[in-house]
Amino acid sequence: MSAPTTKNEKEQNELKYVEERGIKIKNEVANIPSERSKLHNPKMAICREMTLLTLMVAVKDSKIKLGCLEGVSSSGLAALQWKKMLKDKIDVTAATLDCLDSINVNCKNNYIHPIPFPLDFTRTPGITLPQQGEKEIHVCQARTNVLLHMEAFDFIFLDPHKSCTSYIDSVFVNLRHLGILCLIVPDISMFARSHQVVERMYSAAVIKTDYIKELAARVILGKLARSASQCNKGLEVLYTQSVDDFLLLCVKVHRGPHIADASNQNLRSVLHCRMCEERVILEKQKAPVENPYLLLPCTCNKEKIGKTAVVLGPIWAGPIFKPDFLVKMKNSSESLNLDKKSLSVLNAILDEVEDSIETRAENSECNEEEVVDKDTKCDQNTKQTENESVTNKNLESYTTKDNREHNGGTQNLKRPLDDNENSNSPTKRPKRVDLKNKSEKELWDHHFIPFYYNTHRWKMDAAKKLPKLAELIQLLKSDGFRASRTHFDSKCIRTDASLKQIAQTLKSHCNVYH
Ligand SMILES: [Zn+2]
Repeated sequence: MSAPTTKNEKEQNELKYVEERGIKIKNEVANIPSERSKLHNPKMAICREMTLLTLMVAVKDSKIKLGCLEGVSSSGLAALQWKKMLKDKIDVTAATLDCLDSINVNCKNNYIHPIPFPLDFTRTPGITLPQQGEKEIHVCQARTNVLLHMEAFDFIFLDPHKSCTSYIDSVFVNLRHLGILCLIVPDISMFARSHQVVERMYSAAVIKTDYIKELAARVILGKLARSASQCNKGLEVLYTQSVDDFLLLCVKVHRGPHIADASNQNLRSVLHCRMCEERVILEKQKAPVENPYLLLPCTCNKEKIGKTAVVLGPIWAGPIFKPDFLVKMKNSSESLNLDKKSLSVLNAILDEVEDSIETRAENSECNEEEVVDKDTKCDQNTKQTENESVTNKNLESYTTKDNREHNGGTQNLKRPLDDNENSNSPTKRPKRVDLKNKSEKELWDHHFIPFYYNTHRWKMDAAKKLPKLAELIQLLKSDGFRASRTHFDSKCIRTDASLKQIAQTLKSHCNVYH
């Protein structure tokens, strides 16, 4: 009789404790939905790994000790992972509204000492926190919004159990200059399901589209940019990662009203054709467009009766990946021994960025050509070799840039050295960004092809087959377009060719029509 009991107990103990990246945490048994949402979610492991990787790069780039916060922490898992990996290079605070018992037990199980950090209403935000040892973290029982208003941090990670909107306004109040926010947004399918909820939460119009995941990411980034600009801060998106029904958004904040204004210029609307899923990002202007249908590359409005297009957004129309940051992440991933799944996602994003990015020079060249002759914009066959060589050089140039920084070269966005690191005096903060500085102008300069097309919707000739995605990408590239897979959706293709141009490519190469 005793054997099965022991076995059951063992199984129960295994259920109760979960190990992730060398951190053992207690997985509380939950009975009600609100408790269940706080349980350990193995799907989130990939987001926690990417966050850890982001923090590692941020620590490498910075010579000051970063103050890091795990904002909605039920078990303290992410905070413990950071502390175990980066030790005394960072100060870690884990905050939760629940009782601190669970975090305290998890700290002790992992040989880390939890120091209670009670909120003090007389403290000024930004004053250096009490010194933290190699095996210590601060634990704070407080509502996350209140803590975000009362303390300043350099790195904030939020993994809300429900909606993230309630944290967005408070997160930018005290996020320091060049501080990083990693935000997990759950339930992305809601964007396709309930447009009225999106309207209520993000003040943006959406409908179900083929590119809904990227649209959702850009709507949330738009909301982040608006909230940041209310605090005189501008946004730079480091990367956007889509995993199942979650999004991980990583943004860097630049302080200053000028940069906030410049950042706001990236807030645009999208004109979306409901007939063929063609889309175009509208210019930011106060005057109404006289015939908006002419802006779309399709002719659905002429062929069909009624209003064929809708205006969606506002969205963040700026770049959603920063190539040199991703290269740094890739370089750091070797020392972190990244999980296979995380590594494949990172590689997929890097491939996507490599094939989709346009440099400023290239873009301006294209614009000039557009002025000369709009219709021959895509007569890129002659430029094909030139384009390919530039695209291939993109990541190489970023790698070189990255190496320069590692070799001690100066870079304007890099935090200045702090001489008083060990003194008790308040730490010196990096200076505000001057927009006249060339490198800040280039914050949003790496133009990235927005959105993608779902190939599975395309009609096929009964006798012919639609080529496989890899083949289709090669065909488009051979016709002078940029094309790549996208990590947002495995059935989709990101390209600067319009649907009409894709159809032409298919027709000329394999007699398949759209
Ligand atoms: Zn159309």
